[in-house]
Amino acid sequence: MASKSSRQSYSHNHNNGSSSSSSTSSSSSAPASRTTVGHAQPAHNSSGRPKPPSATSRRSVTPNSRTQSFHSDQEPRRVRVAIRLRPRNAEDLLSDADFSDCVELQPELKRLKLSKNNWSSESYRFDEVFTETASQKRVYEVVAKPVVESVLNGYNGTVMAYGQTGTGKTYTVGRLGKEDASERGIMVRALEDIIASTSPPSDSVEVSYLQLYMESIQDLLAPEKTNIPINEDPKTGEVSLPGATVVRVQDLDHFLQLLQVGEANRHAANTKMNTESSRSHAILMVHIRRSIHEKVNDEINSQEKGTKSDLFDGNGIPIVRKSKLLIVDLAGSERIDKSGSEGLLLEEAKFINLSLSSLGKCINALAENSSHIPTRDSKLTRLLRDSFGGSARTSLIVTIGPSARHHAETASTIMFGQRAMKIVNMVKLKEEFDYESLSRKLEGQVDYLTAEIERQQKLRDDGKYKLEKQLRECHDSFAEARKVLVTRSEILEKENIHLESEMKGILSELNHQKDLNNLMQDKVAKLEMSLKHSEKVLADTTQMYEKKMAELIKQIEDERAHSESAEEQLALMKKLLSEHQKSIQGQKQIDELALKLQEMYQLHENTLSELQSLKSENKDLLLQKAKLNEELHSMRQRLLEQEKQRKGIENELIKLKRAVPENENDFEDKKSYMKEELSKGSSEFGNRMGSYRSNPLRENISGQRATIAKICEEVGLQKILELLTSEDSDVQVHAVKVVANLAAEDINQKRIVEEGGLDALLMLLRSSENTTILRVASGAIANLAMNEMNQALIMDKGGALLLAKTASKTEDPQTLRMVAGALANLCGNEKLLTVLKEDGGIKALLGMVRSGSSDVIAQVARGLANFAKCESRGVIQGHRIGRSLLIDDGALTWLIANSNTNSASTRRHVELALCLLAQNEENAKDIISGGGIKVLIQISAESSREDIRNLAKKMLRLNPSLQADMHAR
Ligand code: ADP
Ligand code: MG
Repeated sequence: MASKSSRQSYSHNHNNGSSSSSSTSSSSSAPASRTTVGHAQPAHNSSGRPKPPSATSRRSVTPNSRTQSFHSDQEPRRVRVAIRLRPRNAEDLLSDADFSDCVELQPELKRLKLSKNNWSSESYRFDEVFTETASQKRVYEVVAKPVVESVLNGYNGTVMAYGQTGTGKTYTVGRLGKEDASERGIMVRALEDIIASTSPPSDSVEVSYLQLYMESIQDLLAPEKTNIPINEDPKTGEVSLPGATVVRVQDLDHFLQLLQVGEANRHAANTKMNTESSRSHAILMVHIRRSIHEKVNDEINSQEKGTKSDLFDGNGIPIVRKSKLLIVDLAGSERIDKSGSEGLLLEEAKFINLSLSSLGKCINALAENSSHIPTRDSKLTRLLRDSFGGSARTSLIVTIGPSARHHAETASTIMFGQRAMKIVNMVKLKEEFDYESLSRKLEGQVDYLTAEIERQQKLRDDGKYKLEKQLRECHDSFAEARKVLVTRSEILEKENIHLESEMKGILSELNHQKDLNNLMQDKVAKLEMSLKHSEKVLADTTQMYEKKMAELIKQIEDERAHSESAEEQLALMKKLLSEHQKSIQGQKQIDELALKLQEMYQLHENTLSELQSLKSENKDLLLQKAKLNEELHSMRQRLLEQEKQRKGIENELIKLKRAVPENENDFEDKKSYMKEELSKGSSEFGNRMGSYRSNPLRENISGQRATIAKICEEVGLQKILELLTSEDSDVQVHAVKVVANLAAEDINQKRIVEEGGLDALLMLLRSSENTTILRVASGAIANLAMNEMNQALIMDKGGALLLAKTASKTEDPQTLRMVAGALANLCGNEKLLTVLKEDGGIKALLGMVRSGSSDVIAQVARGLANFAKCESRGVIQGHRIGRSLLIDDGALTWLIANSNTNSASTRRHVELALCLLAQNEENAKDIISGGGIKVLIQISAESSREDIRNLAKKMLRLNPSLQADMHAR
């Protein structure tokens, strides 16, 4: 049975561990103590299981427990006893050379065999048997952990180490294990579990660490405190040490520090008292306070119906569980007489171990279920009163050494353990209602409710204020909506009126349409009628034709009948004829001859008439010939005359050549260049190049002109223009000069163009390689280009392209001047600006600047000024947008760069062009980036002409972008 129960786990093993002391061999000479143990076996019931000790008898030990014996945890529990064998140490090895042990462990049976002598041994059963290899962790878990858990549930508990000095009590219980956590002893591990299971601040863990030596309690956390008195509450039986230091443990590290301090103090105290720590008891007292709520409360209510339910029903009064854990490292259990060898008096020695022997007595009394437990005999037993053997849960770890040297001590230690195994405790749950914390809680609740009421009041006020605000807002929005509604209804009314008038219009339109419709219907009716009439006519006609056809068919049939009768007559005649033939055979030959004669005569007659007609034809031809001869003669005459005329013209031309001055410039009418400008009232920047010429020279020129005009009148313009295509380049040169001179006069220009002079001149530009011809032709075109109508024509005929080409292929400054003049004139026509630019006119103008000739440059500047003027006019009139066309081709850059030129006329044109460009807001960006502002400022200050100065100032003032940039400067 014992072996059967040994399989049971330690925690369920309520029964008979203590009963297992049985002899494996002869046990007749068993010691008295063992005999006691053997007799103390609890009674077995019929099922073979040990009968739990009687509740009454146990409760007599702890009268307080009677009131709360409902919890399963409060069933009687035996003191648990485990045995631990220390590994062999150096000393053991030295003394036990034969390795003979006095003990043999049977851990699987939880038994220990103690050899009595060489041939016999005693076997003892314990709750657990730890071999020398047992780990600290397992020892803790088996021995101490159930006690710790019980303490956490509100019961008092004790873990004690009992054994001979040097067998490992302190190792098992008090080892700090700072270097190796696996070596940590029961104290550290217990606190680790307790700290983990409690939650501050509602729970608390407090410790006191004490030493008991020579019946004096000393505070190991405050060594100055010695002889601390023990206080026992007469009502509850609670034991306390009011003088001892109690430290609330924060965490494990904190506890380790406390233990270390305690250990150091214990060592120091023992050194001072010249004692050994083995003679003193070290006691760690752990006070645990845990708050438990509803669950426990409900239990209490159900358990104690009618007594407390009125008071606590559902109120959730906090319950606090207070419990106490004692971990005791007892003094060495070696026999006093052995201690006496250290020179102490027996009494002294007895006194030293009074507590330990008193503990033994108490254990014996408890084990024997004695009515008197002598707990008051010593300080230790008084301290343990409420934690051991009474209402508490207790575990005892008994440490032994292996060495046979200490056989006697080991045996007595084992017997002590065996006796302790018989003690059955009645644990007691200590709970009380924490009125203080209840009052605190209630106060807190009152505070919370007061604050809540205040908060609610505030919320209500806020809500009221918000509602009022919303009401006001609603009023406002209502008024606004009304206003909107009124205006909307007005608009709708207006719309309504408008729609009505529109409807009226539509109605009248509809009526009109209706009238039209009626008219159309009338027309349709008429048409239908006429259609019907036509149909009738058609039917009549058809009928008539059908009738006619019938008549015709009838006629045909008549004819056929007729022909049939004719055939019959013919046959009849043939028959008659053949009859006649036979009769008139001779007559026939005479008839034939006569017929032939007649034929011959007819032929002769025909030939005669033919001859007659041929003769008359011949006469006509002769007449024609004479006429032609006459014509031929007159034509020759005319040709001769023409030849003569030509010679004459050529002679005249030679004369003319002599009369025409060598300077080709003179064929130009300098005045005319700026004719357009004059006509538009802008003569202030016109290039009146001619004005500097002296009057006699002008007279000379006009004299020559008169001569040319006379010649032209004599020869005829047409003839002169024809000469432009002459193969003789000399003749061409002269002709082109004449044309150029003629073109200088307004009155001739129209005629020249009408008679194809412009085409001829453009053709010369296109095809001639002759410098003079190119120059003079360009001049002539320049003159023609003074006339607005001609300008358009020139452009249409590709004049700008040709001029640009000419400008690019010659370096002759005179030619370039003419070309530039022509282009400058074209620049004065607003309608042509875009085409002119596209045809490369602006590029050509700017390109000609390369010649460096001031005359050419002056023309270029004039052209650009003209262009700018036209553009500005277009912008002002609003039919031109965007930035200037001049900018793309680099004209603006050139203008800005040449605003300081020495030539007065060029400078004027440049200044004017810049001012005009500045007029257009769209050009501002380019003007600013090109440095034009500075130039414009300069022009406004320095221009030789007041009007240009004023214009520049105006532009700077009026153009906002320029203005902004100026300010930025
Ligand atoms: P006690 O407190 O009973 O006098 P100690 O705990 O001081 O004995 O142990 C005495 C020596 O034996 C120490 O050096 C201790 O480290 C060692 N010791 C005790 N038990 C064990 C064990 N189970 N394993 C290893 N060493 C031990
Ligand atoms: Mg020790």
